[in-house]
Amino acid sequence: MPELPEVEITRRGLAEHLTGSKIERAVVRNADLRWPIPERLPGLLRGQTVRSLRRRAKYLLLDCGEGTLILHLGMSGSLRMLPANTPPDKHDHFDLILGNGTLMRLRDPRRFGAVLWHKGDVLTHPLLAALGPEPLDKDFDARYLHQATRGRKASIKQCIMDNHIVVGVGNIYANEALFHAGIRPQVAAARLNLPRCAILVEEIRATLAEAISLGGSSLRDFVDTSGKPGYFQQCYWVYGRGGESCRRCGAPIRQIRLGQRSSFYCRNCQK
Ligand SMILES: [Zn+2]
Repeated sequence: MPELPEVEITRRGLAEHLTGSKIERAVVRNADLRWPIPERLPGLLRGQTVRSLRRRAKYLLLDCGEGTLILHLGMSGSLRMLPANTPPDKHDHFDLILGNGTLMRLRDPRRFGAVLWHKGDVLTHPLLAALGPEPLDKDFDARYLHQATRGRKASIKQCIMDNHIVVGVGNIYANEALFHAGIRPQVAAARLNLPRCAILVEEIRATLAEAISLGGSSLRDFVDTSGKPGYFQQCYWVYGRGGESCRRCGAPIRQIRLGQRSSFYCRNCQK
């Protein structure tokens, strides 16, 4: 599943090609995504000029002046720039055909992605209005996390994966950040003191920033025709390593379920 780093890399890969481009037309081959693609969308997009491509949580926001195209990659989606005459594949549900002879194509085999339209301030859209701060922004700090977790019954891992507290910390990065912070995933969030919140905030930022910089090497995949999605493989410290030895101390990595999600930790390195 694309996580925040993949979405940010997608944004960087597409932004330079889209910004300033005129939209010739939009093609909807299958409107049946997580929510239906609005029927009037091709009419709304025709002739618009792309002003910018921003990201909020895992949503990509294509500002077209008169409104914003909201894109989400869901479980399996990818977006790429291709020559305008590239024949579509079975899972290529949506194209944005630009005036410069290229197109932006959404491929989404599992169809959990989204293509929506919003007129006016896009940050007031129901999908975006209640979201917590961005993990890489300065308003996500130790004091904020400490305050946001007081009185919470949930584990710290469930809290950092809660979009109302902070956006874009998926299962992989929650596990990895907690390892680096030396905090067990099942620790009650309300019991985490301010200094430990500070370490965790730092490690969440570092883990995401490192993944984004790793993904930078895959940027060219957004403009070739190889069909590779813009996902990248990394070496994890604990994620997906249940039963294997801790890379730091050699003890076996434990695997537990927390809120339906697989959670991994080292009993030695995390308290
Ligand atoms: Zn260890």
